[in-house]
This record gives sequence, structure tokens and C-alpha cells, in this order.
Amino acid sequence: MSTPSATVVVGASAAGLSTVEALRRAGHVGRVVLVGEEPHLPYDRPPLSKRHLVDDVPAAVLLRESVAYADLDVELRLGARARAVDLAEHRVDLEPGPSLTYDQLVIATGVRPRLLRQGHELAGVHVLRTLDDAERIRRALHDRPRVAVVGGGFLGAELVSSARTLGLAVTWLFPESAPMTEVLGPEVGGALGAHHVAEGVELRNGVLVDRLDGVDGRVAAAVDREGNSYPADVVLVCIGSLPNTEWLAGSGLELSNGVDCDEHCLAADDVYAAGDVASWLHPDRGARVRVEHRLNASEQALVVAHNLVHGPERVFAPVPYFWSDQYSLRLQAYGFPALADGFTVTEGGLAERRFAGVWTAAGEVVAVGGIGSPRAVRELRSHLIRAQAPVS
Ligand SMILES: Cc1cc2nc3c(=O)[nH]c(=O)nc-3n(C[C@H](O)[C@H](O)[C@H](O)COP(=O)(O)OP(=O)(O)OC[C@H]3O[C@@H](n4cnc5c(N)ncnc54)[C@H](O)[C@@H]3O)c2cc1C
Repeated sequence: MSTPSATVVVGASAAGLSTVEALRRAGHVGRVVLVGEEPHLPYDRPPLSKRHLVDDVPAAVLLRESVAYADLDVELRLGARARAVDLAEHRVDLEPGPSLTYDQLVIATGVRPRLLRQGHELAGVHVLRTLDDAERIRRALHDRPRVAVVGGGFLGAELVSSARTLGLAVTWLFPESAPMTEVLGPEVGGALGAHHVAEGVELRNGVLVDRLDGVDGRVAAAVDREGNSYPADVVLVCIGSLPNTEWLAGSGLELSNGVDCDEHCLAADDVYAAGDVASWLHPDRGARVRVEHRLNASEQALVVAHNLVHGPERVFAPVPYFWSDQYSLRLQAYGFPALADGFTVTEGGLAERRFAGVWTAAGEVVAVGGIGSPRAVRELRSHLIRAQAPVS
């Protein structure tokens, strides 16, 4: 059985909710349905690895209070998983049903954690993506375990920081030479790694975790490829993420790395994608990009909502922004630092962990950023927006 037609947004989180809000602001008066697999009202994920784990009272994370949804005149279908889409019939099948017929569809289903090939069945092993994950980790950390964090990216870095802030013994295992090097390069990654060591983290670089060992169904150690064992009562696995696109398999949509879209975020007739799951053609890059940052989810939703109302006329060409909070440090970056072949400090110093600077690729500025220097970083940002000009 299906219901009357609507704009259907699948994924009730940052990108999905922002799309609905922008649609209403743009004067859209038709029926709007927001579908979400999780039982919770839309909430914000960034606090989950930070204050939510550390504060005595967990941080409030709801994006809007429940009354706001009546004002928005949006039908919420929470606890409902989209399991298939029929592009010809303009229909989304939900579990539990009924199906929804759409005039236009927005896919905003985000990503989920990548898992180790073995060990996730053991008690004490956690990943972090959802509020429920965060609640489990919060409870686990408050038992004061020895913690091992697997993975040297942002999420791993923030969990290491939160666990150390709680005074726990933390071993941090990752294969690269320094944390976050894949995105930030060795200079900034090295400075952040040095800060974690100064905060008392046992940092083990060059370690590729292969498996988790357990005793009586509970994790006891992470084990690397050479067989070295790193004892832990709690293991937090942060080894990247995978776009939630399985439900779209066989639909006819291109799914090479997320939902492939054009520069208008259009994936097929009447189908758009937004947020972490969207791989769109960035006009300035001339290539598809997929960005897993909070601000990107909201900004892309604004363009999608505009195009839902007016047709695919607006392109999405942002300078991506992200931040990360570790201890009392705030890291910020605009642009695409992962493309860089070098980093130059323009203010402050790496050793002091207070600096601003530019990432360059073949002499061209591809990103700007720093730690603890928001004003200098904002000023540098004009280089990216003006001319992508070389900076000496
Ligand atoms: C712990 C944590 C900390 C972070 N910290 C930062 C930070 O400091 N700075 C920063 O820039 N970014 C940060 N991020 C990234 C940021 O939160 C994401 O970029 C943002 O949440 C993306 O929003 P989204 O709506 O695209 O996807 P998501 O927030 O992942 O939402 C997708 C939603 O779709 C639902 N869904 C999936 N499949 C289906 C289906 N088949 N049917 C129905 N619903 C479905 C999911 O359950 C989920 O609720 C962090 C992320 C995490 C997890």
C-alpha cells in the first residue's frame, strides 16, 4: 500500500533536516516526509566524541525540540528504514511499511563505521556513529578501563582526547607515521601527535591492527600483523566509514563512492543527494568529491532545497570547512588539505601547537587552517576564495 505523493527525504539527520527546513523557508507548501532509521529525533553528531563523553551530564544533542516539527509541518517516519527505491514508480519501500510515493526524493543516509574483519562480537569493542553508540561508550569509559583506540583519523583523535581527559590509560594504534596525516599531512599531524604524547597518550604509530583477542567473550587485546599484542579492556575502533547506499543497489543510481551526483547534486530525475553520502561533481575541482563534515551537510542541503523548488539551476561549489576539538585545542581547516604536498606556517609555530598556515599543491594554495588561531585562519581563507593564489 502506498500513500499520497510527497517530497520524501531519507535520512533524518543534519542534511535531511536542513533540507526540510530550507524547503519550508523557500515557501514549499506541499507534503514533506522525513524518514529515519534511528528512533531518535534528529541530533547532532559532533558532540558525541567530545563533551558528550566527558561531561558529568551528557551534552544536549537534539537539533530541534519536538515542537519544531509541527511548525515545520513535516511528517516524521522515525524507526523506519528505507530498503529500496523504484525510480520509475517514484516509490520508496520502508521497513516497516507502508511505502511512500514521491514527487521528489532526497537521499541523505550518511555513512556508517568501517569494521575490522574480526572481533566486533566481543564485549568491550565499540564503534561510534550514533547516539546509542555514544551512550554505550560513555558507560564503558566511566568504568575506568584501559582503552585502546584503533585508527589515526579525526574520530580516533577525539576519542583518545576524551578518554585521556577522563584520566584513563590510552594506547593509540594506527599505521601511519603520525595521526591524521592522510588529511593534514605530516607537519600538522606531527604537531597534533606530539600534543597527544604530552597529554600522556601511549602513541604507537606504524601499527596495523589485524585482530582483537578476547577472554570469555570480552576483549583483552588488539593484535597487529606481526603478532604484537596491546592489552585493553575497551577497544574503540575508528578505521573510517562506508556510505549507506546498500538500499539503493539495483535502483539504477550510480553508486561508485556514495551516491554519484552532478554539480546540482542531482542523482537522477527528481532524485537529489546531500551530506556525507553524496558524491557530487565539484565545479572547481572538476571531479566528484564526497565530504564527511558537519557544515557541508547543512550547506549542501540548502542547494538541494533550492533546486527542489526551482529545478536544478544552482551548483554546489563550497570551500569545505571542518573543525576538530582535542583537549583544549581547536583545529580548523578550509579547503582540501588532503590534496596538498606541503604545509607552510604563516603565524605562530607548530611546536607551540598554536599556528595558522597554508597547505599547497605544486605551489597552489589548496587549503588553509591552523590550531588555536581562528582570526588568522579566517584571514587566510580569502586566499582560497580570491584566486587560489600561491603564497610565499
Ligand atoms: C562522533 C562524530 C563526531 C564528529 N565530529 C565532527 C566535527 O568535529 N566536525 C565536523 O565537521 N564533522 C564532524 N562529524 C561529521 C558530521 O557529524 C557529519 O558530517 C554529519 O553528521 C553528516 O550528516 P548527514 O545528515 O549527511 O549524515 P548522518 O548524520 O550520518 O545521518 C544519516 C542518517 O540516515 C539514517 N539512515 C541511514 N540509512 C538509512 C535508511 N536506509 N533508511 C532510513 N534512514 C537511514 C542514519 O540512521 C542517520 O540517522 C562527526 C561525526 C561523528 C560520528
